[in-house]
Amino acid sequence: MSHYFDYAATQPMRQAAVDAWVAASGALNAGATYASGRRARSVLDDARESIAADLGCEPIEVIFTSSGTEADNIGIQGLYRARVAAGAPARVVSTPIEHPGVLETVAALAKEGATVDLLPVGHDGHLSDLAALDAPAAVATCMWANNETGALQPVKEVIDRAGETPVHIDAVQVMGKLPIDFHALGATTLAASAHKFGGPRGAGLLLARRSPAPQPIAYGGGQERGIRPGTVDVAAASATAAALHESLAELESEAARVRVLRDALRDRLLAAVPDAICNTHEPALPSHLHLTFPGTDSDSLLMLADAAGIEASAGSACHAGVYRPSHVLEAMGIDQDHSGGLRFTLGPGTTQADVDAACQEIPSIVERARSV
Ligand code: PLP
Repeated sequence: MSHYFDYAATQPMRQAAVDAWVAASGALNAGATYASGRRARSVLDDARESIAADLGCEPIEVIFTSSGTEADNIGIQGLYRARVAAGAPARVVSTPIEHPGVLETVAALAKEGATVDLLPVGHDGHLSDLAALDAPAAVATCMWANNETGALQPVKEVIDRAGETPVHIDAVQVMGKLPIDFHALGATTLAASAHKFGGPRGAGLLLARRSPAPQPIAYGGGQERGIRPGTVDVAAASATAAALHESLAELESEAARVRVLRDALRDRLLAAVPDAICNTHEPALPSHLHLTFPGTDSDSLLMLADAAGIEASAGSACHAGVYRPSHVLEAMGIDQDHSGGLRFTLGPGTTQADVDAACQEIPSIVERARSV
């Protein structure tokens, strides 16, 4: 029997989302004007309205995409291009701890000639200085919660400090876990991904204010305000709305439940492996726990954990089956030489039995990884 601790990577679909997907699976082209098109359009409108009501924005500000990565790309590249075309300086402000969906997008803009300034991060994984936001930029981008450590970033302060510079927020890890009021937050664009909160994989959301609107990064038939053209997947949109609504309805009780389990996991593992280092520092999502174990490497830890039925992640990107050092831990100044990392992320299906199993197995796994 395996114990799943990788909810930050992806979550099983909620039954409410499966039901919504099945109910909408016959929907045809929501852009067509004949009767079946109008029926599809009505299902899509309902999904858009439900999402807008749940996230404090107008339905027209909800753009359906194929992933969080695509939403990040449209938000960042699209705002950058729109603003530079309108005369803003070719400058981007970001952070060194972003998900590759943002990191690589910003790197691509740098290759095109953008000046990039990164807000520094402290040893605790939180932004430590926002001064780079004081000078004008075409766009600033900041994640709300870090996917490796769960550290929550001061996004409201970032947006307020950025002034006239539009800010894109990568909210992929927080959507469904924290309340989001898009208008109160003041972000220009915000990205999310349905499979992180129990919706289908391959479905994302971009919230985009009317102005300044991002330029499209692909061109086509003008759907989704022309910002994300292509025939919309009505069933995925409907399932995304259902998953979001249910996860928000359970938000407080789930956060409290998962926090108790996560804290127990952390305390028991730190007691059993006294030199382990906890890299998840408050304020952080209650679902995340990142630990490093001196004298080990992530590949051995993950292989041994998998053999023992513990499905966790290293947190960092895996390339051809080998884990690279984490750019997030590097930015935090954490020593990764001979120090493997494990990220445990908990979710709706996590039970006390899962935590007990991890606490039973991990100490001996660390011991064995040290002798590899
Ligand atoms: N941003 C963050 C913070 C993430 O954690 C992820 C996924 O892990 C993404 C973006 C990309 O989302 P998607 O898998 O939908 O492309």
